[in-house]
Amino acid sequence: MNAELFTEEFKITPYWWEAAAPRKINDPLPEAADVVIVGGGYAGLSTALELARNGTKAVVLEAEEFGHGASSRNGGGVSGSNVGKGPTAGAISPVERALGKERMHELLMGGAEAMANLEAMIEREKLECHYVRCGRFVGAYTPAHYESMAIKVAHLNSSGDFGAALLPRGEQRREIATDFYFGGMTVEGSGSVHPAMLQMALLDRCIEQGVILCANTTMQAISPDGAGGEGGHLVATSAGIIKAREVVVGTNGYTGKATGWLRRRLIPAASYMIATEERDADEIQALVPNNRTLADSKRVLNYYRLAPGGRRVLFGGRARLALGDPRECAPILHRQMLDVWPQLEGIKISHCWTGGIAFTFDFLPHMGQHKGVHYMAGCNGAGVAMMTYLGTQTALKILDKANRPCAFDELPFNSRPGYTGHAWFLPIVSGYYALRDRMDRARAA
Ligand SMILES: Cc1cc2nc3c(=O)[nH]c(=O)nc-3n(C[C@H](O)[C@H](O)[C@H](O)COP(=O)(O)OP(=O)(O)OC[C@H]3O[C@@H](n4cnc5c(N)ncnc54)[C@H](O)[C@@H]3O)c2cc1C
Repeated sequence: MNAELFTEEFKITPYWWEAAAPRKINDPLPEAADVVIVGGGYAGLSTALELARNGTKAVVLEAEEFGHGASSRNGGGVSGSNVGKGPTAGAISPVERALGKERMHELLMGGAEAMANLEAMIEREKLECHYVRCGRFVGAYTPAHYESMAIKVAHLNSSGDFGAALLPRGEQRREIATDFYFGGMTVEGSGSVHPAMLQMALLDRCIEQGVILCANTTMQAISPDGAGGEGGHLVATSAGIIKAREVVVGTNGYTGKATGWLRRRLIPAASYMIATEERDADEIQALVPNNRTLADSKRVLNYYRLAPGGRRVLFGGRARLALGDPRECAPILHRQMLDVWPQLEGIKISHCWTGGIAFTFDFLPHMGQHKGVHYMAGCNGAGVAMMTYLGTQTALKILDKANRPCAFDELPFNSRPGYTGHAWFLPIVSGYYALRDRMDRARAA
């Protein structure tokens, strides 16, 4: 480990936990419940909150402490415009190619709804989480990516209130203090949150609404209660068995073998982030004059932003696609940050951390039911708005209160022959994508 790179107080826990650390809430496990929810992240808690607001008190099982999962570890970029964005350099996603423009349009409308749902929830529930509709800048990694962004901009603007616009290279310093990109696009209809504060604010509302919260309680198996499952489900947990009329699984990147059907449909991956030490606010805020969230158009993308208060940079990416020791990925992210902002040479890293995400084979998020068990999963790296939305939609479905089916409900949800959920191919695939990124960039130079 290169000591020069790290502050003396360097930590391998999320920067966000300084303000909102995971919490152990150990309500006793009841014998029965109307609804049992597995997973205490945004998806699980927003399901529980919507149910509770409508008079149904759920039990939430969380294998670790509340806040252990990706929901308190992410970049806090809030966006509905990433739907179907696979590892495609440039603008046209594989989903759009496969499904066509019209279907893609519907899904993007679903993304816009997810964003609106989160904004409404933050306001209605008074969730203190530094939410700002700050907009987003996506830098074009090559001139060809910039060209294809024109199509993406037109598409976004015809699909929802995204307020997307192209920004040529000559003007990009309006958004970011670098010449690293070949122009880019801005998307006004996106925002940023303090992700761990959002998670804890949701948790607080659940507590106020009487949701039963069981930390350190691992779901081990779900089976039908009685012949044909008409009696609901039996959920075996590390703390005993609970009977439930409905069961909802919201375990996303942490989905285990106990829900093998779902696991076979998800490709678990890791994302990593660093936080820099604090610097003078003027110096840091000059890097991002409009305080947008930032990303680039690479296949193995970077996403980044300023921390609330504007005194440090938070820089993320898939430096490695498997969960591992963050200390090994910190230098990679630091170097990528300096590629964009060489003026930060010498800045140290105060935190580096990782968290689990889940891709799907069609790059779309999914909700639905398998053998009567509800699931919501497949954030594809962008789930702050989406997983919260799928939680809300799953609750409305259980309550029979949805006006119409959600765009992501019961989509075809395929696995691949022989795939069991062990993504052995990830290092190969990510190495290949990173190589293609480097080749594209070299060609553009
Ligand atoms: C580093 C990083 C950066 C990211 N940046 C962004 C971003 O900027 N914008 C964005 O939109 N998205 C981002 N994401 C993705 C986003 O964080 C996730 O999509 C979202 O938090 C998923 O929420 P969730 O509730 O579905 O899952 P999680 O928050 O991961 O919660 C799942 C929970 O299930 C629990 N669990 C698993 N198995 C069991 C079991 N058997 N029994 C009980 N509990 C169980 C786990 O312990 C875990 O706490 C990022 C993710 C990471 C890791």
